[in-house]
Amino acid sequence: MGTASHDIFIIGGGINGCGVARDAAGRGYSVLLAEMNDLASGTSSGSTKLIHGGLRYLEHYEFRLVREALMEREVLWRAAPHIIWPMRFVLPYADGIRPAWLIRLGLFLYDHLGGRKLLPATRTLDMRTDPAGKPLKPLFRKAFEYSDGFVNDARLVVLNARDAADRGAVVRTRTRVTSARREDGLWTVTIEDTGTGKTEEVKARLLVNSAGPWVDEVLAGTLGRNDVHNVRLVQGSHIVVRKKFSDPRAYFFQNRDGRIIFAIPYEDDFTLIGTTDHDYEGNPADTSITEEEIDYLCAAASEYFIEPVERDDIVWTYSGVRPLYDDGASKAQEATRDYVLAAEGSNGEAPLINVFGGKITTYRRLSEAMLEKIEGLLGAKGKSWTADAVLPGGEFPATGYDAEVASLRKDYPFLDQRMAQRLVRLYGTRARTILGSAASLADLGRNFGADLFEAEVRYLVENEWAVTAEDVLWRRTKRGLHLSAEEEAGLEKYMKELGGRRHTAAA
Ligand SMILES: Cc1cc2nc3c(=O)[nH]c(=O)nc-3n(C[C@H](O)[C@H](O)[C@H](O)COP(=O)(O)OP(=O)(O)OC[C@H]3O[C@@H](n4cnc5c(N)ncnc54)[C@H](O)[C@@H]3O)c2cc1C
Repeated sequence: MGTASHDIFIIGGGINGCGVARDAAGRGYSVLLAEMNDLASGTSSGSTKLIHGGLRYLEHYEFRLVREALMEREVLWRAAPHIIWPMRFVLPYADGIRPAWLIRLGLFLYDHLGGRKLLPATRTLDMRTDPAGKPLKPLFRKAFEYSDGFVNDARLVVLNARDAADRGAVVRTRTRVTSARREDGLWTVTIEDTGTGKTEEVKARLLVNSAGPWVDEVLAGTLGRNDVHNVRLVQGSHIVVRKKFSDPRAYFFQNRDGRIIFAIPYEDDFTLIGTTDHDYEGNPADTSITEEEIDYLCAAASEYFIEPVERDDIVWTYSGVRPLYDDGASKAQEATRDYVLAAEGSNGEAPLINVFGGKITTYRRLSEAMLEKIEGLLGAKGKSWTADAVLPGGEFPATGYDAEVASLRKDYPFLDQRMAQRLVRLYGTRARTILGSAASLADLGRNFGADLFEAEVRYLVENEWAVTAEDVLWRRTKRGLHLSAEEEAGLEKYMKELGGRRHTAAA
């Protein structure tokens, strides 16, 4: 057998690849992760951003998945109380779609399956008197209100990558895996720097294929397989509109076509509405919302809100492709949301483990299941450890967000409430690393617009693999919702000037 530079080579810097990298590095394996684009540039920034059991999946008897996901809500909230927070969902009901007893049963299971300690239980609302009824047409007399979590999905990915790197993993972005072959009991993986076109070969003992919607393409193109059809690609899109309601709760609407949509308070000034579900063909990188999806989401939301949701209200849209394990379901919305880890390699062959499916919510459990397989193949190292560990910046109590904001303002009195809240929501305790010894806003350097200062941008370049303005504006932060085109161009120019530092973050 030849000499490996790493135990584990991971293809893909989405939530699953970064989650596995973190868990494995923390147990003492040497890890290299390659992401062809930016971290979370695939499906993992295009989700509805819920840490949820998936009430709807109960209809498809996915009890294993729902229970695991429910249990994760508080585990993840404790691990990252800056980027994950509890949210109450209002589910109005009227006769004709699903009977009230069925929803009540689902919510009973929801309350009791999931190891709930901090999250409040389900209750019933009178929509004629509760403020939740106010922005809605008078279609409903009753609603259920239940708990789930909300997550900044793109940041969850980056924080896992950061923690993995802090524990010794090498994380390389803008690095595409172009081929992988078995040689002398190891993998020889060819990687290409997508900026310079330079290629290099790396040897590893085990390969993890967590390329999300590209998982089959990696098997076919990179590993030379024929006829691979493990995942079903299902597109889902969202619209972000000017705020439609001021209540902090989200809505869960049941549409007449049997689908559901969420309307969620988003980034203070907006409402996030989605999602759709339809089979997708083509390159997942090219996905964008279709005209039909825009019409569908506007019409579906306008069925419920007094003030209609119009195309003119839309300030941003995004679209993602779910890599669902292909279980042969006839409708896209019925395909399983559970994950499958498929290991290959026998008789001393270097092993490969493919990730098919999976949700943001279950990424940590998926990573644990992956590590169990890896231990069987490479030999055990450290024990499972992520259930009680915090992610970078999350070193404060689950219910301590307000106190953290107050403490930041005390130490940095020049911050207004809104900016302090924004910084704690993104960086938690690491907001202090960005602010350093600053005694005024001017000390934070240039303001690129909407209070995005140079100090924050530099932090993102030096610690979080940000390379372009898009990385900063649409994944590390959502300042893109607030910057003008001119301001964005200013940031892009600055990012190019910083370009030389692009790989310093990974070390
Ligand atoms: C519309 C929608 C809504 C959703 N809502 C939720 C929700 O509310 N809650 C929830 O828990 N889940 C939700 N999900 C599911 C969740 O987003 C996905 O299951 C999850 O993000 C998949 O992560 P991943 O790491 O497997 O894939 P990805 O995030 O796509 O990561 C794969 C990465 O691999 C990289 N890659 C591919 N090929 C190569 C190569 N050759 N070399 C190097 N890198 C490569 C890609 O660039 C990509 O970044 C939703 C999904 C969608 C689409």
